[in-house]
Amino acid sequence: MTDTPAETLYCANHPQVETSLRCNRCGKPICARCALRTPVGYRCRECVRTQQQVFETAVWLDYVIAAVVTAPLAGLGAFLLSNLGFFMFFLAPVAGGVIAEIVRVAVRRRRGRYLSLVAVGAFVLGCLPLLLLPVLLAAFSLFAGRGEGILSSLVRSLFPLIYTVLGASTLYARLRGISVG
Ligand SMILES: [Zn+2]
Ligand SMILES: [Zn+2]
Repeated sequence: MTDTPAETLYCANHPQVETSLRCNRCGKPICARCALRTPVGYRCRECVRTQQQVFETAVWLDYVIAAVVTAPLAGLGAFLLSNLGFFMFFLAPVAGGVIAEIVRVAVRRRRGRYLSLVAVGAFVLGCLPLLLLPVLLAAFSLFAGRGEGILSSLVRSLFPLIYTVLGASTLYARLRGISVG
């Protein structure tokens, strides 16, 4: 913001409104109604919009690609790692990191505000069959009157659940960089 109290400025969008504010990027006089407060000072709408476009480079297809790439890989990871017992605790974050790299390359390193959220949603979706299967099996054993199967089924469902939480949070952390904007 450049302060020039000596001269009277008029807003570029509202010629009858007096102001002492200027956009700190293009220097255009703007009134309080037109000024947008940004972390770096007051700016006009046009400058803020231009800058958002620089950050947002992803097209709608990138969101589809991110989801289509993530869901099956997350499901495959859940299937492979859930049987590894406690090794899964170390390998689930690795899987999340690898999937994040693949997504990054698949969208050609374009940036999108919601890309990481879409990827995390697809990750959970991809794990859903393995998350639900033990629950269904437990419900089935209960229905069949074989109560002893329930506990082992529920314990088995914990591994896909932990995999999902660890993998999805790593994926989100790694992709957060491409969501900034
Ligand atoms: Zn401006
Ligand atoms: Zn104005």
